[in-house]
Amino acid sequence: MPELDIVTASSAETEELAARVARELRPGDVVLLRGDLGAGKTTFVRGACRALGITRPVTSPTFTIAHRYVGEGIDVSHLDLYRFQSVEPEEWGALEPYLDGATCFVEWPDAGEGFLPAARLELDFRHIDPEHRGITLRSAEASLLQRLSGC
Ligand code: ADP
Ligand code: MG
Repeated sequence: MPELDIVTASSAETEELAARVARELRPGDVVLLRGDLGAGKTTFVRGACRALGITRPVTSPTFTIAHRYVGEGIDVSHLDLYRFQSVEPEEWGALEPYLDGATCFVEWPDAGEGFLPAARLELDFRHIDPEHRGITLRSAEASLLQRLSGC
């Protein structure tokens, strides 16, 4: 799959990258975010939400599993499957409405495999040092990555 590697030097830079991504997203798009705790996944989702006019606090839904925010012309859902080994069908029944008519960001998505629709974008976050993060973006849409790379 085509991929793009970006290094950000601050959480603000990660939020700026997320804002560029957010402007490309449409309802129904799913974005998967993988990487260790503290690698910047929630920071990225916050940046996307801010760019879409969502002013409410954006925090990890680790304990609540899912949040849905109403943005300017678009709803954004934020799922965090950290607490799941695997998702049972009845649990998925409760989560699926979050995907309806929204752009959906999913942290720790692997437990949702088999339930989650194909992702438009998959992101891998890694620590480089306290302020730097490596972010690998993968998408079947090479043109999307090209626009995000700024070339
Ligand atoms: P995750 O959701 O992956 O567990 P968070 O986004 O909640 O991670 O936390 C990332 C932490 O790392 C925040 O405290 C953030 O301020 C800090 N940080 C430092 N540098 C960066 C960077 N370049 N990108 C994103 N977050 C960063
Ligand atoms: Mg998080």
